[in-house]
Amino acid sequence: MQACFVDQTVDRERDAIIGSDQILTWAQLEEESDIWIRKAREHGAQRDVPLVILGHKQASFIVAITGCLRLGIPFVPIDTIYPSERIQRICDISKSTLLFRADQSRFEKLNEIVTPLAEKQLAYMMFTSGSTGEPKGVQIGVESVVELGSWMRDSFGLGDHPVFMNQAPFSFDLSVYEIVGTLYLGGTCVLNSREVISNTEKFYVRIRDHRATVWVSTPSFAYQQLLSRDFNQKSLPFITTFLFCGEVLSTGLVKHIRQRFPNSNIINTYGPTEATVATTSIFIDDVILNEYDPLPVGYQKPGTKIYCDSHTGELCIVGNNVMRGYINREDLNATKMFSQDGKRGFRTGDSGFVDENGLIFCSGRLDDQIKLHGYRIELSEIDAALRELPGVLTGATIALRKSDGTVVRLISYIVPSAENTKYDDLDLERWKEKLSNVIPNYMIPSEMIVCEALPMSANDKVDRKALTEIYAKHNLDMVIS
Ligand code: AMP
Repeated sequence: MQACFVDQTVDRERDAIIGSDQILTWAQLEEESDIWIRKAREHGAQRDVPLVILGHKQASFIVAITGCLRLGIPFVPIDTIYPSERIQRICDISKSTLLFRADQSRFEKLNEIVTPLAEKQLAYMMFTSGSTGEPKGVQIGVESVVELGSWMRDSFGLGDHPVFMNQAPFSFDLSVYEIVGTLYLGGTCVLNSREVISNTEKFYVRIRDHRATVWVSTPSFAYQQLLSRDFNQKSLPFITTFLFCGEVLSTGLVKHIRQRFPNSNIINTYGPTEATVATTSIFIDDVILNEYDPLPVGYQKPGTKIYCDSHTGELCIVGNNVMRGYINREDLNATKMFSQDGKRGFRTGDSGFVDENGLIFCSGRLDDQIKLHGYRIELSEIDAALRELPGVLTGATIALRKSDGTVVRLISYIVPSAENTKYDDLDLERWKEKLSNVIPNYMIPSEMIVCEALPMSANDKVDRKALTEIYAKHNLDMVIS
């Protein structure tokens, strides 16, 4: 499995992938990967032509990923969490010619016309929420993935054969930690389906039985676990590391974890999908915990530069881990990307600062991108979906937050079109249903409110702040965003 980044001897009888359906040892993973490659070639798979992998936590999802990496095919991971219209759009935008259904181990042709990508040697293309209503395809090169693997090996203290607890669906770049960590470090990956995760007892037994050592999740996910008394060292005795990314890590959560898992390391990492999972890291020990609130996101990873733009206050990343660009979005690439010292640069949209010791802090967003339960969402993408609803003129979405800044709910305001004067509650239900055909469930607003017009700010944009204040006035228990 050389081309799969495994750079050390792996015991071939050791488990590699504990899927929701089957377990594969390293020897079996290699065999299955060989078979997959043969079949993919028979179906016309070609280097530099993207291939969609659709599924949810099956071992064959990883088999397909290893096959793609070995063949030089950029994989486009899609979890079944997405509605079919969005899956279709991702297939179209990525210009994928083949789709592999991991649950049925079956290939489907998507397109007869094969167009290799302009960008060569990509590892994968991951889609994130896009403000225009179209998801954006982030193109990540093989060089970025190799750097991620070396960083995990050299800086995270995970041991020789870490066993990763995978929670994130493969369409989110957090899961790349477990995939690359397993393949690069010769570890094991325990994949957990939504069904298993929803049953805490089953979930913890699975993690314990497979001796998972590294917990990888968003802070939100770990927070939910605190509800269970069994979330502790006694029930999960092999966990040695909590690897967090994707959201603010609060001192409160760290304190709880230190109480329940006194012997574990807690690592806070930060970075956008556009810079290959993470760009900074820090072990949150007692010194850091006592000194900082909010916590820092860490130090830049080797080979990468991160600094704060003195005009905009925006964190910028320069290095090989930065994406090769959004596919077919030259407009966005022109504003978000730049070149510095011959390296790719990316403006993150996060405000932040770097202190005199090189410690980096992230203080929030400069745009309307939010995180809800760990999911990255551009509010304008929901607005774009609202505008497509029948009988709707326009709409705007706001995020309601707790006092610590955590987003708890999404509320959409809707302005019906002039001819739609007789809307009723049934319309609201129909609109919600229609929305669920185009955007994932986690983006569906929990409340939709009909109004006559939206407040506008001086630059003719919807004034989300005013909308939030209006909402708060009528719902005094909610905190203003
Ligand atoms: P994603 O592309 O889904 O990983 O989301 C990236 C965004 O999540 C970043 O641009 C930040 O706004 C936020 N983020 C990621 N990690 C952290 C962290 N450790 N602390 C605070 N915000 C974070």
